Amino acid sequence: MPDLTLSDLPDSSVSPFLCLTIAPARVIRGEGILAEMGSAIAHLGQRPLLVSGSKTQPLVRSQLLPILQTQGRQPAQATYGQDCSEAGLAALRQAAADHQADWVIGVGGGKALDAAKLLAHQLQLPIVTIPTSGATCAAWTALANIYSDQGGFLYDVALAHCPDLLVLDYRLIQTAPLRTLKAGIGDAIAKWYEASVSSGHSEQTLMIAAVQQARVLRDILLQKSLAALQQPGSPIWREVVDACVLMAGMIGGLGGAQCRTVAAHAVHNGLTHLPASHEMLHGEKVAYGILVQLRLEEMVQGNGLATTARQQLLKFYSEIGLPKNLAELGLSEISIADLQQAAEIACNPHSDIHRLPFKVEPTQLMAAMISTTAPCQPMKIQEAGSRSQEPEALPPSSPILHPFGEVQS
Ligand SMILES: [Zn+2]
Repeated sequence: MPDLTLSDLPDSSVSPFLCLTIAPARVIRGEGILAEMGSAIAHLGQRPLLVSGSKTQPLVRSQLLPILQTQGRQPAQATYGQDCSEAGLAALRQAAADHQADWVIGVGGGKALDAAKLLAHQLQLPIVTIPTSGATCAAWTALANIYSDQGGFLYDVALAHCPDLLVLDYRLIQTAPLRTLKAGIGDAIAKWYEASVSSGHSEQTLMIAAVQQARVLRDILLQKSLAALQQPGSPIWREVVDACVLMAGMIGGLGGAQCRTVAAHAVHNGLTHLPASHEMLHGEKVAYGILVQLRLEEMVQGNGLATTARQQLLKFYSEIGLPKNLAELGLSEISIADLQQAAEIACNPHSDIHRLPFKVEPTQLMAAMISTTAPCQPMKIQEAGSRSQEPEALPPSSPILHPFGEVQS
């Protein structure tokens, strides 16, 4: 097998302007549905490679292998290692070659699913995703993150298509620690705060749809998360799982490459380079990142609506148990040097933080990172760029929601 590198990926020939990657070809979901997925996968191939983390391997062995063997398939297992890294992917390509795999099944959390999707993408094989928690929308999307072997975020890769099949088994999701769904809520609610900034003024139909769906998603999560977390397995819990795993993914697909993440994920990306942050889940860092983004909008723009949104989120986070500050992220001992390193990475020239409508310097970001729970008092530290303090005028005939919920016309 040729030694593929990421620059060889087929996506380099796929223009985001011509190719929509909105949704998996098929989604099956239900209680205990895993046992019944045999017929749904029968057409995908003979020799699947099951990609998971080491913790998920017993589950794969006890539940998935028998199903595949009953269907007359010849499955093999491989782990992606610690992180979805280039070295881990090279090992997975070797495992796929050794097994002569003709399709891939990803089982696990975001990194396992990203690794499986990337492997299938590189080898142009069909891919099935089976999320084991509600922590991310990775089971849905045509996007994968690459990390260093030390766990630092490096870059993301746009894939040629969403998975061929997504199997959402609520019984499986319910076996995951509740903390994973809290993280999924943090990651999913970020869609609104980021999409409304990156794409809130777009006049493109699908972008408007994506931003509006992100607002609906935020409202669903604000309304239902607490009850869902109090009653795992209940109907309202399933609705919140759907919101985090399916709807968040759909918004990413609908909005496409231009409807991107902004500061919340940039802060996450910076934090991943601090080993001390590795105990925290993706969505927990993103949830904190939303507060940092809102704080920046307050401090740099004097944006009162951002203050209101931050206070609303602080109350919500307290109720459901998402981290509101560095201490709750497990970083109470963080040194100035580490904070500066995370801020500089988050502000690198390619970072999505620059989708904010004003310029951000690392020192401003550091100030925002240490003041996410500041009292409700807009404080303007620097006028940056030409943007006025008032919300930007909207293009005529495109009434759209302001990032914080009020309809402007
Ligand atoms: Zn995310």
